[in-house]
Amino acid sequence: MSGTPARQGHQDVFYASCYRQRVKIAATVLDYLNESRQKWCTAREAGGQLFGKVDADIVLVDGVSGPYKGDTRSRYLYRSNPIAAQAAIDEFAERGFNYLGEWHTHPEVVAEASGADRRTIRISMEQSILRLSSILMLIQGTRARQDGLSVYSCDGSGFTQWAEVATGAEFSRAPETGRD
Ligand SMILES: [Zn+2]
Repeated sequence: MSGTPARQGHQDVFYASCYRQRVKIAATVLDYLNESRQKWCTAREAGGQLFGKVDADIVLVDGVSGPYKGDTRSRYLYRSNPIAAQAAIDEFAERGFNYLGEWHTHPEVVAEASGADRRTIRISMEQSILRLSSILMLIQGTRARQDGLSVYSCDGSGFTQWAEVATGAEFSRAPETGRD
């Protein structure tokens, strides 16, 4: 099994200077995104929804779903089947997970949000019945793990890219992850 979460030189915690909270991405979610990468030149984009828990200091992303049957997928596009996505949101909610945002892959080495991605995530936030103050968007490029991953959020005032917390940096509260 290749479930070892520790990768030297990488953190699973991200920060943005305009937010007090940090975003922590569970190893299970990093593995899932990594395995969904568009490794072949004909591979279509994959994607889905993100779930987890929010407290005053940490947004913990520890649930992930998708892609689904009936999605719109091409090499440069991913749109979740809205019925399947809502079913996943409901199912995760029953298990105590909050809907936190969306993820998808890009066929580029290091993923960068497109103009269409920014519009889509803004619409997702505005249409969310949960009325979230902000919504996450993770995009996984073809390079492995955090080397290809970009973390964004969108709130009422705009779009923010989150940076990996520097190796060795401490944060004050250890969230529960079930892994070590
Ligand atoms: Zn995209």
